[in-house]
Amino acid sequence: MSNSETRTAVAQLPPEEEEALLHTISRWVDRDVRPVVMKHDHGDIWPEEIVNQMAELGLFGAVIDPEYGGLGLPAVTYAKIVALISSYWMAVTGIFNSHLMLAVAIQRFGTEEQKREWLPKLASGEIRGGLALTEPNAGTDLQAIRMTAVRDGDDYVINGTKTWISNGVHGSCFALLVKTDQSADPRYKGMSLFIAPKADGFTVGKKFDKLGYKSIDSAELVFDNYRIPATNLIGGVEGKGFFQATGGLELGRINVAARGVGLAEGSLRLATEYAQVRETMGKPIAEHQAIQLKIGEMVTRARAARLLTFDAAEAYDRGDRCDMEAGMAKYYASEAAVRNSEEAMRIFGGYAYSKEYEIERYYRDALLMCIGEGTNEMQRIIISKQWIKRNPA
Ligand SMILES: Cc1cc2nc3c(=O)[nH]c(=O)nc-3n(C[C@H](O)[C@H](O)[C@H](O)COP(=O)(O)OP(=O)(O)OC[C@H]3O[C@@H](n4cnc5c(N)ncnc54)[C@H](O)[C@@H]3O)c2cc1C
Repeated sequence: MSNSETRTAVAQLPPEEEEALLHTISRWVDRDVRPVVMKHDHGDIWPEEIVNQMAELGLFGAVIDPEYGGLGLPAVTYAKIVALISSYWMAVTGIFNSHLMLAVAIQRFGTEEQKREWLPKLASGEIRGGLALTEPNAGTDLQAIRMTAVRDGDDYVINGTKTWISNGVHGSCFALLVKTDQSADPRYKGMSLFIAPKADGFTVGKKFDKLGYKSIDSAELVFDNYRIPATNLIGGVEGKGFFQATGGLELGRINVAARGVGLAEGSLRLATEYAQVRETMGKPIAEHQAIQLKIGEMVTRARAARLLTFDAAEAYDRGDRCDMEAGMAKYYASEAAVRNSEEAMRIFGGYAYSKEYEIERYYRDALLMCIGEGTNEMQRIIISKQWIKRNPA
């Protein structure tokens, strides 16, 4: 099945509409987000007020069809919003991005009844959640998951543990990848995806204390004879879970790439400001060639990351197959985030090491972009395989 058959084709927004939307988001970031970032990040505090504001802005329904109450944004506009917010605070975008992975799974693969039941509440932010794939023994190798769902009359009974799940504590509903047939060969044919709201038998285990990506909760989810109706099986047919869970990854990778763009551009912005006010040897450090070399590289990397990301997003919006493009964008933009934040740290000298300055947050947050939505090791393998496939000898 081609991607254009499984995705809703989304037209570009008229430029003036997109501009107005980005202007609104930008004003919100300046007024309500920037003043409170450090307090929340340093205290690892969940930003309730900001979450409510994001719901009012419609961000929990950003890519959900208007028919189901969402904004129905094209990937290009969505990526611009994510990059903009991430250039000031990447972690807060994780709260609606992880949630949208759940929504996209239902939108693309759910039955009409499931879409009507769940999407409007997800779009409004009344229900928030995420995507629960990873287990203690299965991250990159998703097919190694052990969580089981066993049919019992009109229900399924689910047992097992998920780990590292974003929005795990504050979210109330997750797309849950399980094994419905443990003996299936190949293994992916025995996997199914469920819409799993919190209820008896579904508890939150450990909350992770992380290096960065603060304020958004990452937690273990524990399922002990958790019972849900068979009507929560996405698409209503067993054995499709692996493709349903990974089917949203192109958009997921464009999203992570956009976060990388934001971090790379934000690091550049902070370094540019600092280099013009900090003086050594009687002149601003921006006038020393060693610093100019760094800034020259940073500007180029940020620009290249942006171009690759919007190239992938445009391909996605056209309905083209874009796993290679999304992989390249995700790989390059995340590495650009890491390199630019590190170079900015060097430009800040000793002050980079103080929590009074913001740059240390960018440095702590950036590395996650190399891990999420498929590690950068896997991205390069995917890019290479696709490239070879598109260029047969
Ligand atoms: C902050 C945070 C939030 C997260 N949020 C979520 C979430 O919301 N939902 C969710 O399901 N998961 C989430 N994850 C989990 C994340 O998706 C996994 O950590 C990631 O997929 C990597 O899996 P792993 O940690 O088990 O590493 P492993 O799979 O054990 O990989 C370890 C290393 O080996 C490399 N490697 C593994 N296999 C291969 C191979 N075949 N070829 C080459 N190299 C290989 C990897 O690239 C990596 O360098 C989150 C993780 C973090 C840190």
